Amino acid sequence: MEVGEGVSQGGRKPRLLRINNQLGYIAGIDIGATSLDIALADVTGLIVQRCSEVTDVKLRPESVFGRCSELLLEILQKQGATPDQVLGIGVGVPGPVDFARGVLVAPPLMPEWENFPIRDFFKKTFLSAFVVVDNDVNIMALGEQRAGDGMSIDHFIFVKIGTGIGAGIISNGKIHRGSDGSAGDIGHICVDKNGPLCACGNKGCLEAMSAGPAIASRAMDAIRNGASPTLRLMRESNGGVIRPEDVNAACREGDQAALDIIRASGQMVGDVLASLVNFFNPSHIFIGGGIANFGNHLLVAIRRAVLHRSLPLATTHLSIKYSSMGSDAGVTGAIALALDYLFAMEHDLHSVL
Ligand SMILES: [Zn+2]
Repeated sequence: MEVGEGVSQGGRKPRLLRINNQLGYIAGIDIGATSLDIALADVTGLIVQRCSEVTDVKLRPESVFGRCSELLLEILQKQGATPDQVLGIGVGVPGPVDFARGVLVAPPLMPEWENFPIRDFFKKTFLSAFVVVDNDVNIMALGEQRAGDGMSIDHFIFVKIGTGIGAGIISNGKIHRGSDGSAGDIGHICVDKNGPLCACGNKGCLEAMSAGPAIASRAMDAIRNGASPTLRLMRESNGGVIRPEDVNAACREGDQAALDIIRASGQMVGDVLASLVNFFNPSHIFIGGGIANFGNHLLVAIRRAVLHRSLPLATTHLSIKYSSMGSDAGVTGAIALALDYLFAMEHDLHSVL
């Protein structure tokens, strides 16, 4: 739409245009293993409504995606908008996504979701929308690139540490998905061949050794062998349960066993990242996900392991820090992905979707 006249460069004054933000809405849906975030944006990418709630990906896909639809309808109503005004929906899911088909392939955390027709499911309610599906960490990397500290950085890795571990790779300014969409699935790199069984069926994957459930399980060991009175008290007041965030809280209170658990986790993540740094030479690594508010101890352990094991040329300018976007990274990236396809529609949308 026209928004007035610009300054003349010698001839007639140019007319200024901007995208009409009344065109419709874009939705971003970020499904994690235990939480879901939904945001509604106008076509300039400005978020106008959002909501979050806990979920469990062990539920059936109809149930989780059905809830996403309900929540999206609710925030549309709050905005005074209707389902037919949704032009695009970007969806991030916590597992390997065949990007061209928009389906999950052998997702370790939720095997029942394999090949579930995510696009068709949303199109039933949001008839005018096209739906694009990607891995949750890829959309977080995209969010970091569009609105976070990753803006204008061409080579970086976004690492999500939560219930699982994964990485989104920005290479030459673009998301690198690999030939089948599974690039960045670093959670299943083997750290210890004799380690605990992972959800993927292999032993000693990085994820099984150092993500949230592994941190909680080590804390239970520390309680059983009497190494951590602080964690024992926390468990009692939690009704017998220990969560990863309790380990972080105990660490902040000066509990040595909790500190050791967090350091060990950080070191394993850092050891794997060191190999990735040698292989890919990013200028930045951003750490996000549910463990991203774990403070300095985790970050220092990750940095130390990376600096110790990577080649000097690869680490001279390397920055490793927490993402500053919090839970906004995923929805921001999902919206950016949907917008990219909305405006690419004429050129190559049909070749991709
Ligand atoms: Zn695994």
